[in-house]
Amino acid sequence: MPHAVLCPPAVDRDEWTDWRWQMRNRIHSLEALRAYIDPTDAEVEGIERTEGVFRWNITPYYAQLMDHDDPSCPIRRQVVPTIDELEPDLVGVEDPLTEVAHSPVKNLIHNYHDRVAFCVTAECAIYCRYCLRKRMVGDADFFMRTGELQEAIDYIDAHQEIRDVLLTGGDPLTFNEAHLEWLLSRLRAIDHVEIIRFGSRMPVKLPYRITYELCDLLARFHPIWINTHFNHPKELTEDAAAAIARLASAGVPVGNQTVLLRGINDDVATMKALNQGLVRMRVRPYYLYQAQLIGGTAHLRTPIETGMHIMRELRGRTTGFAIPDYVLDTPHGKVPLHRSYVRGRAGDRVVMETYDGRLWAEPNPIPDDVDVPFRLPEIELPADVDTIDTD
Ligand SMILES: *Cc1c(COP(=O)(O)O)cnc(C)c1O
Ligand code: SF4
Repeated sequence: MPHAVLCPPAVDRDEWTDWRWQMRNRIHSLEALRAYIDPTDAEVEGIERTEGVFRWNITPYYAQLMDHDDPSCPIRRQVVPTIDELEPDLVGVEDPLTEVAHSPVKNLIHNYHDRVAFCVTAECAIYCRYCLRKRMVGDADFFMRTGELQEAIDYIDAHQEIRDVLLTGGDPLTFNEAHLEWLLSRLRAIDHVEIIRFGSRMPVKLPYRITYELCDLLARFHPIWINTHFNHPKELTEDAAAAIARLASAGVPVGNQTVLLRGINDDVATMKALNQGLVRMRVRPYYLYQAQLIGGTAHLRTPIETGMHIMRELRGRTTGFAIPDYVLDTPHGKVPLHRSYVRGRAGDRVVMETYDGRLWAEPNPIPDDVDVPFRLPEIELPADVDTIDTD
């Protein structure tokens, strides 16, 4: 069972579960933080020295999940700045995916032919230290005025090929219902927009944002999909599960995108517990992201081999749909980072590795009249291979 989040005795439960109360009472001073954790020197200095680089902000709900005494707490490391962020890195805090170059109008990224990522706001309820859009989140220049939102909507309207609109940010669910209704009704008025998706971390950092009122609103604009962003089993609370259940009842399929983070979730046991816990909450794991090259996040990134290994260890050892796709986002789209199970072709047989480390040779001759679209490497049939005898 996911554990419960207890409301601190000093706060009324009705206030605690009011998302606007949570937003108003976000923690962004050392003094307020000390009510939840005993910050280390590295955290105190990090908070003081990263202020101008990337803001910090934590909802009381999420703060409550932090371990008071353990600085290696996976919740704490996602949201509390440390001096590690000031270490020299391979790049600066910039735009790793050259999203600005792929933006025909402000904050609309048209990278794939048939779909766009539309960054409708730069606001977030918390600021994750590894954020891909660090350059924009919380930055006034990236906030969208109504006229700018309308320009992006006009662009989508003028481009018949766009059948899928991903609303992201920042966090689009920081918008109030009236604003969301304005946006959704304009997008729904465009015939060629088939699906609307939200990328939102609200179920994780502020599950009370998923109100019945919001769910009713979303249900009026179906098909609506949501991808959320759980990174660690500690985030799978009863309150988060209740938020997901409200979305599921409104007919909104919920997927999850996790970022692979060093010391937070970069081991098989954590990743398995996370994804199995998600499936239990009816959330379908979608992507596991290789952490992006963003300045000041070197301490959170892992070698790609670590992710590939974790994926290998999940396959066959848990429910197939508890396994996300491990991908790297590049300026040329997302690239799956999979160690191939297929070794190659030995004559009429294709040789592959099974999840438990054996070899299987599948009889699979290529008929003379079939043109294969590409060729597997030609290999010798290994001696220790298992196969079916054929006539
Ligand atoms: C991730 C992304 C999408 C959506 O990609 P899917 O693989 O369809 O989930 C669309 N546009 C941009 C720019 C993206 O980064
Ligand atoms: S919720 Fe998403 S957009 Fe917001 S700070 Fe975290 S990673 Fe960045």
